[in-house]
Amino acid sequence: MAQESTAPPEEAQEPQEPQERLDPETRARREAALRYVRTYGDPVLRSRARPVEAFDETLVEEVRRMGRLMDDALGIGLAATQLGVMHRVLVYKVDPDAPLGVLVNPTIEWSGDELETLEEGCLSLPAVGVEVERPVYVRVRASDEHGVPLTVEAAGLEARVIQHEIDHLDGVLILDRTSRDQRKQAMRAMREAMAPGAPPTDASSAI
Ligand code: ZN
Repeated sequence: MAQESTAPPEEAQEPQEPQERLDPETRARREAALRYVRTYGDPVLRSRARPVEAFDETLVEEVRRMGRLMDDALGIGLAATQLGVMHRVLVYKVDPDAPLGVLVNPTIEWSGDELETLEEGCLSLPAVGVEVERPVYVRVRASDEHGVPLTVEAAGLEARVIQHEIDHLDGVLILDRTSRDQRKQAMRAMREAMAPGAPPTDASSAI
């Protein structure tokens, strides 16, 4: 639109640079955690994870580790496949004060008709933020890490994160759910961010 193109640059939205604001210790912890997160091009991100059959101590430890890495990476959701573990397990924490959300073998039982388009990032796609349309309300059936069945009725950001992570368990990325133009831009941004010597990228609110 003409109006937008004539707006002075200072009125444009400032690019966020949370990396600049992180204290050195948080930044170092985040970078250490991100080394375990598989990134675009790794075939595990395009593979379908297998249902969990054994609810044992190994699974409990796996979930703890996922929660730790997600926190350290400053993410709000993480799927096991992002760590190269091909189990249908995801963790999330939309509210920093809430306990860790854990969904094992999740299935979307119901999703509402209302859709919303919002920008999403992904810990596995450095420097990428693309608009994704998703249902605002979902009901998900799953188990916790001890095998106790649970049903989650989620709305808004929580519903979005859960759907994003279930996509990961099916080998689906946000690049598959956005427009062709945004996908092209995302690929370019990612190539630059993943080039040798590139500075660490922002992945705030990344899932
Ligand atoms: Zn993701």
